[in-house]
Amino acid sequence: MDYDDMLNRAIEETPEIDASSERFDVPDPDVRQEGNVTVYENFQATTRRLSRDDDHVLKFLQNELGTSGHIDESGRVRLTGEFRERRISTAIDDYTDEFVFCSECGLPDTRLVNEQGAILLRCEACGARSATSG
Ligand SMILES: [Zn+2]
Repeated sequence: MDYDDMLNRAIEETPEIDASSERFDVPDPDVRQEGNVTVYENFQATTRRLSRDDDHVLKFLQNELGTSGHIDESGRVRLTGEFRERRISTAIDDYTDEFVFCSECGLPDTRLVNEQGAILLRCEACGARSATSG
């Protein structure tokens, strides 16, 4: 058995550690243009992965992109203006940096808590709490 096999075996045997310590996979944005509107097809797959509220993520996207948007009846986001997949992806990365990953331990096992009008990011893994801008 070589090193890679041992590594694979170790990963298979410890799925729960793998799930939180490995790269946090956020779906790549599936984006298409419809005239002057950018349709973000897999928005809800992304918010589910992040375990965050659709409206909260949408509000952040609108701020980041400097535009307005809404969630349509199919759960897609429709943003006014033309935005490339890469631009959306960067905005989602910024969101996860601020509202998903713990600033102390770097794990995504966090949730947002509202405390005295401020939204804090509380980490379930290490117990850290950090302020957010949202
Ligand atoms: Zn933490």
